[in-house]
Amino acid sequence: MLTLADFERDALETLMAYGAIPCISPTYDADWVENGHLEAAMGLLADWARARRLARFEVMIQRLEGRTPVLVVTVEASGASSGTAVLYGHMDKQPPLGDWSDGLAPFSPTRVGDRVYGRGLADDGYSTFSALLALEDLEASGTPHSRVIVLIEASEESGSPDLDAHLEALAEHLGDVRFMVCLDSGALTYDRLWVTSSLRGIVNFNLTVKVLSRGQHSGAVSGVAPSSFRLLRRLLDRVEDASTGEILVPSLRAEIPDAHVAAAAATAAEFGDVTLTDLPLVDGVRPMGSDAAERILRSTWYPTLSVVGMGGVPEPAIAGNVLRPYTTAVLSFRLAPTTDAHEAARALVSALSTDPPEGASVELDNFQIGDGWMAPPLQPWLAEALGEASSYAFGREAGFTGEGGSIPFLASLASRYPRAAFVATGVLGPDSNAHGIDEMLDLPSAVGVTNALGHLLGAFCAEDESA
Ligand SMILES: [Zn+2]
Repeated sequence: MLTLADFERDALETLMAYGAIPCISPTYDADWVENGHLEAAMGLLADWARARRLARFEVMIQRLEGRTPVLVVTVEASGASSGTAVLYGHMDKQPPLGDWSDGLAPFSPTRVGDRVYGRGLADDGYSTFSALLALEDLEASGTPHSRVIVLIEASEESGSPDLDAHLEALAEHLGDVRFMVCLDSGALTYDRLWVTSSLRGIVNFNLTVKVLSRGQHSGAVSGVAPSSFRLLRRLLDRVEDASTGEILVPSLRAEIPDAHVAAAAATAAEFGDVTLTDLPLVDGVRPMGSDAAERILRSTWYPTLSVVGMGGVPEPAIAGNVLRPYTTAVLSFRLAPTTDAHEAARALVSALSTDPPEGASVELDNFQIGDGWMAPPLQPWLAEALGEASSYAFGREAGFTGEGGSIPFLASLASRYPRAAFVATGVLGPDSNAHGIDEMLDLPSAVGVTNALGHLLGAFCAEDESA
């Protein structure tokens, strides 16, 4: 079993060096090729991988024209199973977002106690280390494992636009994929293995309402030229109830399966009002939802709209009395796990662009669309192995929970290998702040997930040999 001291000795230095590289995902770094940060980080991870103590393995960086690279580590089977297990992670990062707290910075990783702070350490830089240390530990202890392919991509935070092409190119090499573990998901606590039971889908795009070809003195023209902001509000009212936040477009509404309603109630009973834990609500702000269980469902199944950016709007300090020519809002819709994201996008386009208010020019562009995912029923060996893996690594039963975020490629990966058993897990727990400021990796939890992963790989090999 891997200990924290093992992790510190074998991985921490390289993990910290990785943390210092601003390898931001291509969507947020248009010059990523020239900047070379993704390449630098790929090289660092590949070098670390090559130094692993594994019997038979190969490290390769796959490159495809015009796409981000992927790291592919192929570890040959030490057991008699014939199937392949794929371990997925990513190494591209979100941008810093804003000012980090005193003493912390996005690209100067800092250890405080058993936590390390830095962009991309938990989402999802730890995955390369976890995957290969789990295999090293298995081989050291003589536990057989199947052929395992560790796949670390570099476009996840941009919606994985390059992953399908890489999977296509790797199809033959991957072989008969029978087990997949995604190491990029969340955890409700740090005391057990958390398995993701669902993820929400996502539809993002820019909505621009334009009323003038250039800005005009607001004293002269307001009251005659309509305000682009007001018309934007009217458009948003078509899709969201401004008083409740309820999404009004029928194809974005979904039935929540009974099992997921019951699971939310059980989680609330065991862990309390988990969605409010560490939520930095300003004094006096009332949370949405009537109780803990409803809030879990609201954050994992309800469709929602967040306006995540605005354009055409000056900062307050330089705002003159101008009727601005246009307003752009960056709309981010989360969808229920079972909603067809492309159908939802079509319905949103139709609702927002049909019959524009006051004849304004309405443009929608920059679409990012990703399906949600609902875990299929667990195969019996896997249900048993997950429980054992969590007890082995954490001394506690595994937990199962829906996630409010999205991992868009999961649905396509799952449909590419429909027969494969599938687990999504991760270290993104309370205060880990993925995508926010002060992103944090809880080291003991990374070690726990590594040990649990090793157990799962051993169990898969045993199951696959007997199948
Ligand atoms: Zn991630």
